[in-house]
Amino acid sequence: MSETAVDFDTTNTCKAVVKESTRITPASTDEVRHIVLEVEDPAFRFVEGQTIGVLVPGPHEFGNPYHHRRYSIANARASDTGDSGVQVSILVRRCFYVDEVSGERYPGIASNYLCDAATGDQVTLTGPYRSPFRIPSDPNSNLLMIGIGTGIAPFRGFAQRIYSEKSFWKGQVRLFYGARTGMDLYYMNDLNDDLANYYDEATFKAFQALSLRPLSRPDQALQDMLAENAAEAWELIQQPQTYVYLAGIDRVQEALDKTMIQAAGSEELWESTKARLKQEGRWAELLYS
Ligand SMILES: Cc1cc2nc3c(=O)[nH]c(=O)nc-3n(C[C@H](O)[C@H](O)[C@H](O)COP(=O)(O)OP(=O)(O)OC[C@H]3O[C@@H](n4cnc5c(N)ncnc54)[C@H](O)[C@@H]3O)c2cc1C
Repeated sequence: MSETAVDFDTTNTCKAVVKESTRITPASTDEVRHIVLEVEDPAFRFVEGQTIGVLVPGPHEFGNPYHHRRYSIANARASDTGDSGVQVSILVRRCFYVDEVSGERYPGIASNYLCDAATGDQVTLTGPYRSPFRIPSDPNSNLLMIGIGTGIAPFRGFAQRIYSEKSFWKGQVRLFYGARTGMDLYYMNDLNDDLANYYDEATFKAFQALSLRPLSRPDQALQDMLAENAAEAWELIQQPQTYVYLAGIDRVQEALDKTMIQAAGSEELWESTKARLKQEGRWAELLYS
């Protein structure tokens, strides 16, 4: 399943207040913040795997009054919030881009706006948007979750939801997560280890992939980890109750393709397996560049 532009209406907005903003990486690596927003309207609803949009007030380049970017929701829905606001967590990497001509480094607009926001600040949200990521209704489903970097956000929401009621989820849950260093394993590092809550669950297994060389990319680490565990991943993918989710930067796709072609024994078999999963609604991507 993939997204279409029609899903991203920016006219339907709501106000939210920053309740918490915590840096979950050390100063030695990229700044990534866990930000908890509270939507004032108690009727606001979302489900795990959805994205929200942030509207950064202008003026911006080319006369645009707003700058709009989307972020994956990193928590599970609340069962009932009564009259109080609704909490939405996001995981934001502070982005910069380098002008190829001048060599100057510029801050990304929305990510810096969010990372600079202090507790009590108000922001304008859009969405939540319809998403290809959905938890299957059958608790016997297997989930194969594969991601890099901030791609972990929707998987945190998934894990919170399916393990919120003990012994509810019967299917196998496998998380393959790639990063440059141990501190870039968000929600799985020394500063925030939220996902450790699920290590004791009989159905949950996380595979952490770290780059072996300082300058190699996290997708290479992910690919190496997938290759090491290709037999298990391939076996799971072939089961009719398995759902596959890819999240984070788009190189995740290539890492999976390369390893699964090997595991399947041919590109043809891998492509036809993928096509079947897509056709049956068991393949979902939330990828960005
Ligand atoms: C479905 C989806 C889910 C996402 N989820 C997350 C998430 O959970 N967490 C997260 O951190 N991000 C997420 N993102 C990415 C996020 O939406 C933003 O793209 C990201 O934060 C950068 O936005 P920005 O406004 O800070 O940067 P921008 O100001 O938009 O700049 C970003 C990029 O645009 C280019 N660029 C912009 N202006 C110029 C210029 N003048 N010259 C050259 N290049 C330029 C550069 O390549 C730069 O890297 C997601 C994206 C999608 C599509």
